[in-house]
Amino acid sequence: MTLFDSPAFEAHESVNAFYDEATGLKTIIAVHSTARGPAAGGCRMWPYPTAEAAMEDALRLSRAMSYKNAVADIDHGGGKAVIIGDSKTMKSPALFEAFGRAVDAVGGRYWTAEDVGVSPADLQAARRTTRYVAGLDGHPAASGDPSPVTAEGVFRGLKLAVKRAYGGDISGLTVAIQGVGHVGAFLAEKLHAAGAKLIITDVNQPALDEVAARTGATVVAPDAIFDSKADVFAPCALGGAVTLANLDRLQGRVIAGGANNQLATPEAGEELYRRGLIYAPDYVINGGGIINVAGEIRALDAGAAFDPVWVEGKLSRLMETLDEVFQRSVDEKRPTHVIAGEIARDRIEAARR
Ligand code: NAD
Repeated sequence: MTLFDSPAFEAHESVNAFYDEATGLKTIIAVHSTARGPAAGGCRMWPYPTAEAAMEDALRLSRAMSYKNAVADIDHGGGKAVIIGDSKTMKSPALFEAFGRAVDAVGGRYWTAEDVGVSPADLQAARRTTRYVAGLDGHPAASGDPSPVTAEGVFRGLKLAVKRAYGGDISGLTVAIQGVGHVGAFLAEKLHAAGAKLIITDVNQPALDEVAARTGATVVAPDAIFDSKADVFAPCALGGAVTLANLDRLQGRVIAGGANNQLATPEAGEELYRRGLIYAPDYVINGGGIINVAGEIRALDAGAAFDPVWVEGKLSRLMETLDEVFQRSVDEKRPTHVIAGEIARDRIEAARR
């Protein structure tokens, strides 16, 4: 398949590939849309088996950022960077300085931040070679790790979905969390504090042990999470958690978590709607992190300090949008992921015009 034929291409403005001989950096920076402003989206480091797989992921993720940023109503289009490589063995400051040069070469049309495999410390190195980096610590405009804000949005959105599905609050209900990394661990703490019971899984045993010790969660094997006796399934690992095959295994009526690209296929979204499950569309419920990042970009551009009040205003509004999505799904008898997609496309189209 060529770039322009890829189903994920969907009118990307540009796709940039960079190679740095000295460090071995191979990165693809996809800019889906700058209609609403410069593209913003994280950088993912992953050992993709082929460059084609990396490109497909960059395209898919960058288009999703256009939708996420539009729904979050921030002045940014969608873009994403992927670095081909193993984040456990290949990272170095020099590699991220080279990555910063690649970001800089996109000329301010793309702002980067953290994503799976990339930490704020890595981005500090990138910042030495480009200003288009956010999600950092240590300067007045800095917003820090976006994960706690992402988790806060997921927590609030999950409670909205629970209210609609079960008519009450989260206390006493059971939530199955797939993945207790940055977002999943913060979410677990918030749910525990709110009186929810937790069932958790991860492929990283130390992370599991730590979260279980803090929250009293029951630990299960990765594949067993789908069979948990839980009222809510919260995917917080990688994409594709909700498939036609595992819908049969879920026992609760709510799917609400932090992971990107939760629906393995659009058909899974149609089918869960047909079965009466409530799904919080991923790029709506997990928009808190990018709002936090946008707060940093806004402060950097204005030469001002980071403003958490602005972030809270946007996050509250995003939760209202999520509730509108749930309500429209009921009124219009259509799945939530379809409604959210329409809202995003309408906003991007309006900006383009
Ligand atoms: P992370 O890497 O810190 O956490 C992911 C966790 O999932 C890890 O602990 C990993 O071991 C685990 N995992 C991987 N495969 C698994 C499997 N098969 N079963 C169970 N666990 C598995 O990443 P994160 O920052 O917490 O992000 C989690 C998800 O949320 C990702 O999809 C990311 O794109 C999305 N997201 C994150 C943010 C953010 O602010 N960090 C914002 C929006 C969306």
